[in-house]
Amino acid sequence: FFAKPWVFVRGVPALKFLPPEGPPEIAFAGRSNVGKSSLINALLGQKGLARTSNTPGRTQELNFFVPDGYGTVEAGLPPIVLVDMPGYGYAKAPKEQVDAWTALVFDYLRGRPSLKRVFLLIDARHGIKANDEEVMSLLDKAAMSYQIVLTKTDKIKPPAVERLVAETLERTKKRPAAFPSLIATSSEKGGGIDELRGAILSLAE
Ligand code: GDP
Repeated sequence: FFAKPWVFVRGVPALKFLPPEGPPEIAFAGRSNVGKSSLINALLGQKGLARTSNTPGRTQELNFFVPDGYGTVEAGLPPIVLVDMPGYGYAKAPKEQVDAWTALVFDYLRGRPSLKRVFLLIDARHGIKANDEEVMSLLDKAAMSYQIVLTKTDKIKPPAVERLVAETLERTKKRPAAFPSLIATSSEKGGGIDELRGAILSLAE
């Protein structure tokens, strides 16, 4: 289904607007500018589906995407649903916005059996930052399985990527809900995209 076009189905600003529980959901989280939109677009082979560069202050929504052609009674439910979470860590974000993000995301993480895994994106140039640690703590607390995805690995040299992979795994190995492996990607060069697709496919129905 990665060969098919995908479509945006709904933006969820509050939990009462969530679609009913159903097919497995996979969510993408990361700091603003981590390369989340670019990664989703690379993954789905589509430009402009996920909007690149979150406008700070924009309504914070969970954005739901499904392969095209599902949703009618005849077609049935999609095998998988991708959820683009609002970016976090924008330096100038007012406290209310940070609190709103945490409330929306934590409630979603904790109360959503359909959600199978969160891919937590980390910019290869920066590594894990303090607010990424906070989000990992949130995920651990919600007992929600998450896997680190390094982004923009084309921006650093291969030995530096190797070092970062080892260092990142070392930093996450004591975290209860963290996945024991990570995926290094470049949306620009295509590295790691097939591996990420494989990880997603393994969770589809
Ligand atoms: P978002 O805010 O997390 O959705 O981030 P975007 O996808 O908008 O990307 C932020 C910036 O990083 C943009 O200027 C992208 O062109 C750039 N970018 C994203 N992915 C890559 C990548 O894999 N390699 C390189 N070199 N730049 C990237």
